[in-house]
Amino acid sequence: MTRYRAEPAISISSLNKWYGSFQVLKNIDLRIEPGERIVICGPSGSGKSTLIRCVNRLEEHQSGSISVNGIVLNDSLKNLDAIRRDVGMVFQHFNLFPHLTVKENCALPQILSRGTKRRDAEELAMHFLTKVRIPEQADKYPGQLSGGQQQRVAIARALCMTPKIMLFDEPTSALDPEMVKEVLDTMVALAEDGMTMIVVTHEMGFARKVADRVVFMEAGEIVEIGNPDAFFAGAKSQRTRKFLGDIM
Ligand code: ADP
Ligand code: MG
Repeated sequence: MTRYRAEPAISISSLNKWYGSFQVLKNIDLRIEPGERIVICGPSGSGKSTLIRCVNRLEEHQSGSISVNGIVLNDSLKNLDAIRRDVGMVFQHFNLFPHLTVKENCALPQILSRGTKRRDAEELAMHFLTKVRIPEQADKYPGQLSGGQQQRVAIARALCMTPKIMLFDEPTSALDPEMVKEVLDTMVALAEDGMTMIVVTHEMGFARKVADRVVFMEAGEIVEIGNPDAFFAGAKSQRTRKFLGDIM
């Protein structure tokens, strides 16, 4: 009998990366299935950002392999283009274009990188701005919005590129506390729609609610990985328990 197994959304194996002589990622293995939600936590400097930035080659790795939806991430620009089409990213500091309106922020990447007609690009922009519940802000500039609203624009902008996978790098850590929830709610809705997500965050309530697996990283290594129940109730590693004790 032939068994068909879905291709992993992301497959990382024996990944190593150095910044100069400093080894920032050590022998990382991680396989993420389509539709899976992974939360990565760990102390500052443990390599969380570097790891997810390697997935769309904002950082280059030196050994090991990464593939995304079966496409190998290597020096081929064709592969890189294909991977970047599938992977959206949301950063801690939003990275919106300050001189463009909210709607233009969402429409312009589609026009420039896909050749989408302006009218269609704006229509999709409005669709996702509605999805993140700020359609009424479409004609404002980012500077006129709160941090939470700007981050929701950044999420809408990424969704406009119709990614299959979304990477979030501490999307709420630059926000005032009262704005964290509106951004997390947007991300929960995205998870409920079945999006494959890797989220670097210390919002453990979000992890409990949404994550299929939680990863704890320290000093460039994956120390522990497990489903949220097991992870929070009885982390095996002393280092993980100490970290959770410090942040919760
Ligand atoms: P985290 O996101 O977990 O805080 P990072 O991936 O940002 O960790 O960084 C991991 C380590 O790599 C840190 O020690 C950091 O100082 C170092 N680092 C990050 N980016 C660079 C870089 N571009 N050049 C050199 N060192 C870097
Ligand atoms: Mg980081």
